[in-house]
Amino acid sequence: MRLSGTVVVDSETVVEAGAVVVEGSEIAAVGPADELADRYPDHEHRAFDVVCPGFVQTHVHSVQSPGRGLADDTDLFEWLEDHILPIEAEMTADELELASTLSYVELLAHGTTCCVDHLTVDHSERAFEAAGDVGIRGVLGKVLMDRNAPEGLHEETNAGLAETRALVERYHRSYDDRIRYAVTPRFTPTCSEACLRGAREIADEYDGVRIHTHASEHESVLDHVTDERGMGDVEWLHEVGLTGEDVVLAHVILTSERERKLLAETGTHVTYCPSSNMKVGAGIAPIADYLDRGINVALGNDGAPANNTLDPLAEMRQATLLQKVAHRNPRTLPAETVFGMATRNGARAAGFDRVGRLEPGWKGDVVGIRTDTSRGVPLHDVYSYLVYAATGSDVVFSMVDGDVVVEEGVVTSVPVREVYRRARAAFEGREWGDGA
Ligand SMILES: [Zn+2]
Repeated sequence: MRLSGTVVVDSETVVEAGAVVVEGSEIAAVGPADELADRYPDHEHRAFDVVCPGFVQTHVHSVQSPGRGLADDTDLFEWLEDHILPIEAEMTADELELASTLSYVELLAHGTTCCVDHLTVDHSERAFEAAGDVGIRGVLGKVLMDRNAPEGLHEETNAGLAETRALVERYHRSYDDRIRYAVTPRFTPTCSEACLRGAREIADEYDGVRIHTHASEHESVLDHVTDERGMGDVEWLHEVGLTGEDVVLAHVILTSERERKLLAETGTHVTYCPSSNMKVGAGIAPIADYLDRGINVALGNDGAPANNTLDPLAEMRQATLLQKVAHRNPRTLPAETVFGMATRNGARAAGFDRVGRLEPGWKGDVVGIRTDTSRGVPLHDVYSYLVYAATGSDVVFSMVDGDVVVEEGVVTSVPVREVYRRARAAFEGREWGDGA
């Protein structure tokens, strides 16, 4: 397939009147549209205003979509314990598959072609199946919680680790290597030392398995780990082996000088979730400082109840605006930098070597975006448009691994109207937990 338009190759290179040719699952050529039309005259052709790499979100919770709008304007622990965990505990396997499908549909329709997904304790296999069916690229993991967990989510340490191993065996590098595994402890307050060390052991056993967890998200988390371990959350994670080039830490807001050095030295990836951080009043992550130290920072929407949209373009806008406020400096995080965070940095964090830019030999994860809206006129600079003006509803086309999954803004791999109908029937008016 030949996709033409203003081609945004990566955060530095744009080909005006360009094209991208995808053959099989990979990009075969990138260059001037005229030239590629001559070289590939028989390839099916689609014209877009902008063609760019699919966006990568390295912290989402696909299973949480039923909680969107149920837990707004509450503190983090109340949000989690009274609203989100009861949903995770009570969902049936069918409901979990539906919940994840809904999130994957939203992610893909808005241009996210790859996600790192924090699932829940039970029925995780159904999310893997959903991701496979919808056609997103993803690094998914069942959640480990072996202490301080509510009934329904508590799991014995060895049982959680054994199920993790079984899921790695079954799903890591499945669906033509589109789907991979991340060992996923929820966060340090709900995981024993044995659980955290066990997570590292499993990741070391399998090539390409990541580790994904929340870190230093909130003062209450920091208080918990400081009381218990006498150190910061990142220090504790480092102590038990959960830093390194295969580790993706979400939020990472409250960090000491020593912890920032550890992140840089170990090559640990950070996922910045500005919308979620603002919504739960968690604080402002020191992202500009992390980038200055060479830490790889990617973006994440977090779960639907914490955001409340899964829109990579909205997240890019929030990402830079929040840092500009924090630094009282409009030069902080320019649009090109943020675009890089949402594409190549994300792919690096997720562990996909040939994802996140448009280059021959790289994966055919490509999106088409329209500019023929009031937001796109006049268009002086494509990065400015994508980061500050466009929204996920401007995405009209998505392709993952060379397969078309979104046409005219609608996911084509599953019947979306039917998914919406089933999700309304299952989740609207549903009471979770004690009705909170
Ligand atoms: Zn999260």
